[in-house]
Amino acid sequence: MENLVPTRIELARPLPPLTYLAPPGLAPGMRVAVRLRTGRTHGVVLGPDPEPPKVKLRPIDAVLDPFPLLPPRLWELLAFAGHYYGCGLAHLLPLCLPQAVVADWETPLAPGRRLCDLRGAGDWAGLAQAGADWHAGALALPTLFHRRGLRGAGVTEVRRTEAPNPPRVTPSQAKVLLALEKGGGAMLEGLLLEACAVGPAVLARLVEHGVLERVKRLDLLSQRREETADRRVVLNEEQRKAVAGIDLERFSATLLYGITGSGKTEVYLELAGQVLAQGKRILWLVPEIGLTPRLLSRLEARFPGKVAVGHAGLNATEKQADVMRLLQDEAPLFVGVRNAVLAPLRNVGLIIVDEEQEGSYKSEEHPRIHARDLAIKRAQLEGCPVVLGSATPSLESWQAADLGKYRLLRLRERPQGVTLPTVQVVDLRECFKAERKKVVFSPLLHKYMRETLQNGQQAMLLLNRRGFENFWMCRACGQTFDCPHCALSLTYHKGAFRLRCHLCGYETVPPEVCIHCGAEHLRGVGEGTEQIEAMLRAAYPEARILRLDRDTTSRRGSLEAGLLAAEAGEVDILVGTQMLAKGHTFPKLTLVGILNADLGLKIPDFRAAERTFQLLTQVAGRAGRAELAGRVLLQTYSPDHPAIVHAVAQNFEAFAAEELPYREALGYPPYAAMSLYRSEGDTPVAALEPLAALKKRLLTVPGLRILGPLEAPIPKVKDRYRMQLVLKAGARPPLAEAMRVAPLVAGGVVTLDRDPLNFGV
Ligand code: ADP
Ligand code: ZN
Repeated sequence: MENLVPTRIELARPLPPLTYLAPPGLAPGMRVAVRLRTGRTHGVVLGPDPEPPKVKLRPIDAVLDPFPLLPPRLWELLAFAGHYYGCGLAHLLPLCLPQAVVADWETPLAPGRRLCDLRGAGDWAGLAQAGADWHAGALALPTLFHRRGLRGAGVTEVRRTEAPNPPRVTPSQAKVLLALEKGGGAMLEGLLLEACAVGPAVLARLVEHGVLERVKRLDLLSQRREETADRRVVLNEEQRKAVAGIDLERFSATLLYGITGSGKTEVYLELAGQVLAQGKRILWLVPEIGLTPRLLSRLEARFPGKVAVGHAGLNATEKQADVMRLLQDEAPLFVGVRNAVLAPLRNVGLIIVDEEQEGSYKSEEHPRIHARDLAIKRAQLEGCPVVLGSATPSLESWQAADLGKYRLLRLRERPQGVTLPTVQVVDLRECFKAERKKVVFSPLLHKYMRETLQNGQQAMLLLNRRGFENFWMCRACGQTFDCPHCALSLTYHKGAFRLRCHLCGYETVPPEVCIHCGAEHLRGVGEGTEQIEAMLRAAYPEARILRLDRDTTSRRGSLEAGLLAAEAGEVDILVGTQMLAKGHTFPKLTLVGILNADLGLKIPDFRAAERTFQLLTQVAGRAGRAELAGRVLLQTYSPDHPAIVHAVAQNFEAFAAEELPYREALGYPPYAAMSLYRSEGDTPVAALEPLAALKKRLLTVPGLRILGPLEAPIPKVKDRYRMQLVLKAGARPPLAEAMRVAPLVAGGVVTLDRDPLNFGV
């Protein structure tokens, strides 16, 4: 390569940007391959380095992209996110552009003129122009991405059935079966055909034999579900007002507030139809895909062939195929979870964030982005509306609507045929007094359970604690059994006969005598879902009982399968953790029992009440979604707690009205902005020191309250000691100033979580 110039390159490693020699004129955002002392890696061009370090610079190995592949506005969003969350472009880029998505340099620009010819001539300006034209829609590059092996990818998957191998197979059939076995029983059709070098006829034969099945990706998520026909509804007055209230031509943020079933999705669908008709694209964010199969079939029915779906369950190839479809404008409506907010869609005309209050929109690992907040920023950059929908809005969004930053649109009308369930409270303190021992199932709950089962209806019992017993304790010395690597007690799992750490996965066979004092008086304390299931089996031997929690649903698809069985009425009693609260509608479910509504309130987090309120309201909404009237029984030791009182009344606004002044008085969000700095070390002191040093540098920043450094709520995880420093300010600027005054070293021991959601760990 001739006349190379110093260029700043950021690597997808925990390192600050480095300077390499690269051809002049590489646009920021282009990916390059470089060498480090430790091997090869990818990087992103940041721009020329005007003051290169006075050392011998290495040249880059190769330019990977002919031009920046992401749409220009998305770069602006990434730049904002990098700045706001304190992370580099190279860490954000893989969230929207998987490394495997690479352009084909053989792509012809014009007859006889391929991208690689321009590269050969050093014509980077020409390539940049081609990229700009491509992004603007003025230049079509249909063969830009390597898709030869990916034909049909993202569409059809081939899977092994339960049927035994046929007695005789041809050599090509054998190749297919072997490849599938290696691939874990399922592969994308295109990849499978390529890997085996066989034609589609071979697959067709095996499908005929019943050994294989071909499944469309969308069906994977809505297995055994009849195609929902596109059911057009006539929007009611409120829905029409909501739709009319949103100007599609410019930025606005709207909070669409209405109980589940009040018709929010119909509003989104109507808006989406209008936006697609304008030739624009839509980003539709949902908290979790697996639990919303109905939504996907509704979307596919309304907008056939236009929907692409992105979620955490996709393998790398599927993700790659999706991103290529989006970059080529082949799917104008993209439904996805958190990272979908960064999807490489051009010309976005509408962003929807359904269930905006959900914590899953916030990433709990680096880079710790919040998809809802970035959705608002993205809509600003795109100049389009963003609609946040919720039955129990986050207090942040509720307050923003109150201040007029968001427009508030309400759907108050009850949908036809749906009645709110009656919610009753059982005071567990009274039960304790009456029975002189701890009560897990109150007499009233038992009574309702019997009635429900007699009527052939379904009951759902919820307890937010898995395992058999919460912890083991020695009655002689009072000591508990903690994880040797974490500051957390081990949970007893009876079925597996193990004590397990829910943080690091450590497990051990339960000891026969106390490891502290040698006494034999060990006992478990605090029941978990596993024990509840056992108690139910003893009390209701005839009932069909299904437990759904993280222990029983670790296999891919098993949660969906369980929920479908429950939906089909094959289950009498469903018992599980909060994962039962979301998604599905169970037509026969008429009783919901919350065994201990207080569990979530004890977490040392100022949002504990808000989360408990949301969870209880969501769960209560499970009962009586169908024609049958539902009952909810909420067992609690604190019936007067606002989260419980207002959940019983199913009154979000009253809850918000009581909770917000409390937040204001204590200076918590939404009345303050927060940053959480965490650090880890092999010893408590090693974890503390960097935070103490950080604090010293921050003392000069005006408007900042600094709390700590202190031990994290769980002070040790996986043998690492954990400390934290909390910054609070009346608004965001002092927190940004703190980042400027004391920038974190990439790869250093201190990490930053802006607008942290999780204080309990
Ligand atoms: P949400 O998104 O608020 O939970 P949905 O939009 O899914 O509510 O509506 C719940 C049900 O009510 C759906 O089956 C939907 O088709 C139906 N529905 C919504 N609006 C209307 C309407 N205006 N007329 C008839 N049915 C409606
Ligand atoms: Zn552990």
